[in-house]
Amino acid sequence: MNTYKPIVHRKPVPVEDPAIVTNRLADARLHRCRCINCRLGNAEQRLYFIRDVDVAIVKIGVTHIGVIAGKRRTVDDRRRQLELLGCRQLLVMKHVRGSRAMEIGLHEQLDEFRIKGEWFRLTTYVANYIENFDGRIV
Ligand SMILES: [Zn+2]
Repeated sequence: MNTYKPIVHRKPVPVEDPAIVTNRLADARLHRCRCINCRLGNAEQRLYFIRDVDVAIVKIGVTHIGVIAGKRRTVDDRRRQLELLGCRQLLVMKHVRGSRAMEIGLHEQLDEFRIKGEWFRLTTYVANYIENFDGRIV
């Protein structure tokens, strides 16, 4: 018995890459911080990459910038704070609009390079990853 069914040619529906769609949705949702400073529009979260000047290690973290408790705060203030904590000279490589959720996503993505906590080995791969990072986790 012939079970052959003719192929019906239909115009293919353009499908967007699910990863891109997910990322776009995530972008909008993940940036949202419910703290009072962000809600008032006085502050925003920044995802930062701060490296050690002498050793090839990098910290990937999140901090608030803007006006917090009446004081203007920048990513460089976070760098200075970390310098004092670790007694090491540090350098801000990059910072983008970010969130805790993005930070966790990045930590997972670069987990094989993790030293401890938020510190990662700054290999060529990690350096390139950071250079190309546009705020989206693919
Ligand atoms: Zn906030």
